[in-house]
Amino acid sequence: MAREPVVGILAIQGDFEAHASALSRLGARSVRVRRDRDLDAVDAIVLPGGETTTIAKGLERVGLYDALETFARSGRPVLGTCAGAVLLAREVENHPVRSLGLIDAVAVRNAYGSQVDSFSVTADGELENLRCIFIRAPQLRRPGPDLEVLARVDGWPVLVRQKNVVAATFHPELTDDTRVHSLLLDSIPAR
Ligand code: GLN
Repeated sequence: MAREPVVGILAIQGDFEAHASALSRLGARSVRVRRDRDLDAVDAIVLPGGETTTIAKGLERVGLYDALETFARSGRPVLGTCAGAVLLAREVENHPVRSLGLIDAVAVRNAYGSQVDSFSVTADGELENLRCIFIRAPQLRRPGPDLEVLARVDGWPVLVRQKNVVAATFHPELTDDTRVHSLLLDSIPAR
């Protein structure tokens, strides 16, 4: 029998436990990724939410930007949620940080305004009744032709996929719905 998939969760800042728990419900084991050699042992990676600027500084400090780009370009699956989605964008329009350029969209940070800290809403798209929790969420704008939009809220893409890279502007780890994490696990190449 194939071994259980091992998923790395970037552990510079952000919620390790909630992602690990969602992944464990799907039969995957999670490990913390803090430096480039941690990536050698994982089949896929999650970039969690948090404060984008803090995570970006951490990535720079430990030299993980290039390693993450190489990891993704090798075809291994990547899921970025909220701040993680910002880091995957081709460009960050406001409060710019260095991003990985793995999804063809421009991220706008805190796009729902400083008065709107968090809200929950059901998205439109092929995943029925997908409840999305947004916390100081970004928007993904000006999507390119290679970006597949899997869910939208108010017309804006909130769940997108580009080849092996999935980005959610919300927090799928905060609900019992594991379908977004399944997208990650289902694209791990057969071992
Ligand atoms: N607004 C945050 C940022 O851009 C992201 C919020 C989150 O990840 N929940 O840094």
